[in-house]
Amino acid sequence: MTPKDITEKERARLLEEKRQVEEELAHLREAMQGEVDIEPDEGDAELFEREKTAALIMVLERRLLDIEKALRAIERGQYGICERCGKPIEPERLEAKPDATLCIECQREVEARNRRRPGGRPLNRW
Ligand SMILES: [Zn+2]
Repeated sequence: MTPKDITEKERARLLEEKRQVEEELAHLREAMQGEVDIEPDEGDAELFEREKTAALIMVLERRLLDIEKALRAIERGQYGICERCGKPIEPERLEAKPDATLCIECQREVEARNRRRPGGRPLNRW
């Protein structure tokens, strides 16, 4: 696959996911707007359900923002460009991990940096 094919495939995947998330959010918001008719002995369970729904709405809203960010990157032609060094991300890497934002070199460097303990001596590789 060429990088352009991968971009188109990823775009279609994101649009489909966006549609699903929006649909799910509409359902959940509808459920939240329903009349709260709490029976004294059901009150806690009802409240618990609503809290769970509210938490799920927040998770989905965040997911929606991520999807929109990725779609904007595609529109600006920045999809598949490493956020750190600005070089194109390897097509094989994008195929395996469509939401990668770093090229393999930068990913390795960032991971190595995260592994290094502050003040500790560098980890011996062998
Ligand atoms: Zn890079």
